Amino acid sequence: MCQHHMISFVDPLVTNYTVVDFRNKATALIEDIFARDKIPIVVGGTNYYIEALLWKVLVSTKPQEMDTEKVTDRKVELEKEDGHALHKRLSQVDPEMAAKLHPHDKRKVARSLQVFEETGISHSEFLHRQHSEEGGGPLGGPLKFPNLCILWLHADQTVLDERLDKRVDDMLAAGLLDELRDFHRRYNQKKVAENRQDYQHGIFQSIGFKEFHEYLVTEGKCTPETSNQLLKKGIESLKQVTKRYARKQNRWVKNRFLNRPGPSVPPVYGLEVSDVSKWEESVLEPALEIVQSFIQGHKPLAAPVKMPCNEMENKRSYHMCDLCDRIIIGDREWAAHIKSKSHLHQLKKRRRLDSDAVTAIENQSISPDCDKELKEKGSPEQNEKELKSSV
Ligand SMILES: [Zn+2]
Repeated sequence: MCQHHMISFVDPLVTNYTVVDFRNKATALIEDIFARDKIPIVVGGTNYYIEALLWKVLVSTKPQEMDTEKVTDRKVELEKEDGHALHKRLSQVDPEMAAKLHPHDKRKVARSLQVFEETGISHSEFLHRQHSEEGGGPLGGPLKFPNLCILWLHADQTVLDERLDKRVDDMLAAGLLDELRDFHRRYNQKKVAENRQDYQHGIFQSIGFKEFHEYLVTEGKCTPETSNQLLKKGIESLKQVTKRYARKQNRWVKNRFLNRPGPSVPPVYGLEVSDVSKWEESVLEPALEIVQSFIQGHKPLAAPVKMPCNEMENKRSYHMCDLCDRIIIGDREWAAHIKSKSHLHQLKKRRRLDSDAVTAIENQSISPDCDKELKEKGSPEQNEKELKSSV
């Protein structure tokens, strides 16, 4: 059995634990495991946290030795202010970042403002610098560790949904409500009474707590029927939220890895887990083979997951059509453009000019090699391919 780390290690009442704290602790552990000639396996969970381990993406505004207290305080302080006012301030110092954030997304707006206040450099500038670091890829900085791979366990949506519903039922059967009730009594009741309960930070933001808020605060103060209804509502919404979260996790794998392959994006190997009775042959054995291959430094038998083309579509990609002298944003728009009448008209015009040029050159009877090259370049498919690859 291998040793597990970082399980139940943060006090549930700690509200200022951040992804930076997580990254620092986990990175130290990973380095220690490597130093002992072992292979660290990261299992999870919260995507944002995992990304912080894969790439050097997180902006660290504080010197490493400084304690985190003060830095966190400033962000919390900022978050108390009005979202629109914060957003307005951000748009003055960092319009690029402000354009990407909704004023309601106070935490991120505050974070970006904090970066600017503490470093004098805008958050977006900070990120640009990181991206241009050596080895930097589309997702941010370079990978923190070489030779890593991702094992993605996935199941049919219906199978997964059933499994998630059952998991909620199992958690309830195992005493989830008592645990929540106890927690509520000890830590949340007083806050609720003072109207300062907080479902945005720490344990209270985790799935399974706020869904039972109504039930917990009214328990014993309303009829058993109402209480029962609120309980049912809580269970139903917990199931919904759990399923939504699972979809979000899958989307993350698609958007962050599969849609943007490149040198600084690790390969993703899919393992099919719809039928648990086939665990050994469809998950365990292929996983071991993949990991073994990585350790020995050769290619695994299994091929990494690739996305079908249409799902690789980029809505913000920049295309320049030299023929029409137009800028087109988005893959779909680009695909439509190259089939459009106006573009085809330009293409025809160009081909006519090209063939005229070829005829003219042929008439001057130049060497056959040059001629061949010109003809290849002039073929219509080649033209389109060149257009696409040059954007
Ligand atoms: Zn065009």
